[in-house]
Order: sequence, then structure tokens, then C-alpha cells
Amino acid sequence: MRLKDKIAIITGGGKGIGRAVAEAFTAEGASVAITDVDAAALQSAADALCGDVVILENDVSDIDSHAQLLDTVVNIWGRIDVLVNNAGIEISQPILEASPDAWDKLFGTNLRGPFFLAQRVAKQMIASGNKGCIVNIASVHDQTPLWESGVYSITKAGMGMVTKTLALELAPFGIRVNSVSPGAIATPMNQPLLSDPEKLAQTEKTIPLGRIGLPREVARAAVFLASDEASYVTGATLYVDGGLLLRT
Ligand code: NAD
Repeated sequence: MRLKDKIAIITGGGKGIGRAVAEAFTAEGASVAITDVDAAALQSAADALCGDVVILENDVSDIDSHAQLLDTVVNIWGRIDVLVNNAGIEISQPILEASPDAWDKLFGTNLRGPFFLAQRVAKQMIASGNKGCIVNIASVHDQTPLWESGVYSITKAGMGMVTKTLALELAPFGIRVNSVSPGAIATPMNQPLLSDPEKLAQTEKTIPLGRIGLPREVARAAVFLASDEASYVTGATLYVDGGLLLRT
């Protein structure tokens, strides 16, 4: 029960890593608000999760919607202890074909939205005198570019700096900010890879631990960073990648 009585918001919690984070957080005693743009995925997550869970349809890229999102959570539980900025999208385009539209969508969902949500959550924590924490889900591609997903990689590199700058300026308020950066994880985002056994086998050969990761393996890192066990950890990035970065 490492997150007993903590109140958490997890964005993009309907599927994949966000859903695994919601499962791990509730198992550790947290009350959890999960947001997503996919109403059906949210409902299915809510049906599967045990514990104190609220589902809220919300698009993280719509920064005008954040005030109402926070009001809803604070009205239910009175405060926010943890934000997990997990929602993200990937759009594959060779760099010579990267379009302004895809750039705006990727930046809106992966960087601009999460930054302003974190800012608003931090203001709420400060106003209520609450020493909470923020966990951003970045990627190994905050360090190394993903072939034909250059703009995605640029957003994740930006997320790495969001973590550091927020950690620096929020430390005086006792608010910790860290990243979890996954490698290749078996989620709906990777469905094309998972459904192509040859490509999957090739990918797994490039991973030192020899296999793709599981969403719950990323979730465990988020639990650690959100828990009091990480009370002296801020501005850090925890890579959960089976050693992938050692080879790239
Ligand atoms: P996923 O596509 O399987 O699930 C993402 C969830 O976020 C979905 O339920 C989706 O509906 C939701 N979502 C998408 N846009 C949203 C928005 N604007 N507002 C709210 N919710 C939104 O993806 P995943 O693999 O679970 O990825 C989660 C995070 O982890 C992302 O930030 C992703 O970039 C990152 N990541 C994933 C991998 C991987 O291999 N799967 C690797 C590194 C980083």
C-alpha cells in the first residue's frame, strides 16, 4: 500500500501504459481519476479496475478543459497528490514529409497539453499547501530519434526538459517531478509491431533483455516515483527499456 490515501490523475488511462498505471496505483491504495479521449476504453478500464476510480472523458491537448477537470477531482476528493502525464500519440512520418498538422497534433498531445496540465496541477497543489508529485511518461526517444517518427521524438525530448524545468522551479514548494521513459512496450500503440511476428522478433533482438516490455513493468516505475520511497528523487528520468538505450 505504497500509495495509500493518495489522490492521482492519470491521463490516457483507458488503455496501454496508463491503464496499467491505474491498476498499479489502485492496488497500492490510491484513489484514481483516469482521463481519456476514448470513452469506450475508459468504461472498459473502469469495469476492470478495483478500488476508488473515477473516469473522466478529457482531451489533454484542450488546455481550456483542464480547469474543469481539476475542479471535478478536487470536488470529489478535496486535493490532488499525483499527476501522471501519460496520454500520448505517435504519428509516423519520414522527416522530409513531416506536416505542420502532424507537428501540431503531436505537440498538442505530447507536450503542450501535458505542460499546461502540470502547471495547473502544481498551482492547485501550492494553493492547498500540498507537497505532491508529477510523473511524466516520456520515452527512450527523449534521447535517441525513432526512425520515421522524428517529430514524436522531438516532443519526447521536450518532455525530458519539461521534467527538469518543473522539478527545478517546483522544488521550493516540495513538489517532485520525474519522468519514466519506456522502451518498446506491448500496448495498443505498438499493435502494428505486435501483429507482425517477424518484425517483433527483429525488434526483440535489438533489446539487450531480449524481449518487449509489459505495461505493468512501466507502471511499477511510476508507482516508485509517486511513492514516498522516492522522497529525495526529483528531476530524474527512469528508463524502463530492457537496456535498449545501451545499444542505440
Ligand atoms: P496507447 O495508444 O496504447 O494508449 C494511450 C491512451 O491515451 C489511449 O487510451 C488513448 O485514447 C489516450 N489518448 C490519446 N490521445 C489523448 C488525448 N489527447 N487526451 C487524453 N487521452 C489521450 O499508448 P501507450 O503505448 O500506452 O503510451 C502511453 C504513453 O507512453 C505515451 O505518452 C507514449 O508516447 C509513451 N510511450 C509508449 C511506448 C510504447 O512502446 N508503447 C514507448 C515509449 C513511450
